[in-house]
Amino acid sequence: MKKTYLSALVLLGSAGSLMAQGVANRVAPSVKDDVTPVILRRSCAAQDVLQAQLAADPGLARRMDAIEAQTQRFVAARAAAQLRGGNTPGGSTGGTTALLSGTVTIPVVVHVVYNTAAENISDGQIQSQIDVLNEDFQKLNADRSNPYPYSGLAAAAPVRFTLASVVRKASKTRSWSTNDAVKNSKRGGDDAWDATKYLNLWSCNLGNGLLGYAQFPGGAPATDGVVMLYSAFGSRAKWPTGTYSSPYDLGRTATHEVGHWMNLRHIWGDDGGACTGSDQVGDTPNQGGENYGCPAAGKSSCTNASTGGDMFMNYMDYTDDRCMFMFSKGQADRMTAVFDAGGARSSFATASGALRQTATASTISVFPNPGREAVSLTLPANADAARYSVRVYDMSGHEMRQARYDGQGQLQTEALPKGLYYISISDGANTSRQRFEKE
Ligand SMILES: [Zn+2]
Repeated sequence: MKKTYLSALVLLGSAGSLMAQGVANRVAPSVKDDVTPVILRRSCAAQDVLQAQLAADPGLARRMDAIEAQTQRFVAARAAAQLRGGNTPGGSTGGTTALLSGTVTIPVVVHVVYNTAAENISDGQIQSQIDVLNEDFQKLNADRSNPYPYSGLAAAAPVRFTLASVVRKASKTRSWSTNDAVKNSKRGGDDAWDATKYLNLWSCNLGNGLLGYAQFPGGAPATDGVVMLYSAFGSRAKWPTGTYSSPYDLGRTATHEVGHWMNLRHIWGDDGGACTGSDQVGDTPNQGGENYGCPAAGKSSCTNASTGGDMFMNYMDYTDDRCMFMFSKGQADRMTAVFDAGGARSSFATASGALRQTATASTISVFPNPGREAVSLTLPANADAARYSVRVYDMSGHEMRQARYDGQGQLQTEALPKGLYYISISDGANTSRQRFEKE
């Protein structure tokens, strides 16, 4: 990622004094006036904060590797299920494996940490942000119908945000940095609520020309959540009387940061324009660097000109609020994985009732699992084994003919290579899908 704040300019003061912000040149606190910060370029510190956390915590890389592996397994399984034309792991019915089904409710706690009256943003401004999050993540945003090359890839994530609480905390601190002090009541901030149950959003006078930063899944619970500049919080379109810094006044900073919180990376892959980095998403084009403002249609980089150019209308780019209006399908899959069984934020899905062991009459499992030569179906009492069709697929969705169902409740798996598979069991009306490991 480019150290964009090196060139970020922050305009402070009603007299319009202009100060170039270097790393060592901090934003001067507003001494007595409530002056809305003027941010000239979007700048998010999520990646910088991650790099600092990785350096400080040797276990974090391992935890994030495990989360990435679970994410990739989920994305591959979902792609395989879609190839088969069946239910996808997210939204599946049936099966004894706990799978995400329906919508995950995310209770949000907003910590308003303020030094001036303007920083103590109103309930209306806060609610406007919750409304924007719901629209953007559910693909209900009004600007989703803007014409753009990637409109066919736009997708919703299965999440719903509700405002659980607003905590207001007066503080002597006039300007905050990315050191997480705002998340600590002993340092003048306000402590996080239980990160397994709540998304914590801190609104404060974030300095250094930053609009916000998020902590990726895998980080410490006490610092989990999103920090935002108070004047980039909420939407002028929904709550006009709030305090806003144009052109970051439509609530998209939170959409971007909560995207990070759900494990999305910057769309250009944080490689400083080298075209070698990846956002770990399959359907976003390889993009050189971040985009600012509202680029002209057709802007391209790396080799993406032939596929439609940069996806600068993606929430995970750096464009202005009014010029970003989509997540891609691949990004939605990645976010969904976080809430699936074994996912870093699956506790939200469990609490929502969206992640559960389905226990219908049609639910069938295989035993033993992992298995070797043969596995047995655990059929409902009095069920006719011959009625069932049983198929085995690899994680890419290819049917494995080596595995054979005998019509009597036994699946022969001796010829199946070792590995992970999906077993699809159907009685014609209901299909149950199991993850299966051949030993
Ligand atoms: Zn970011």
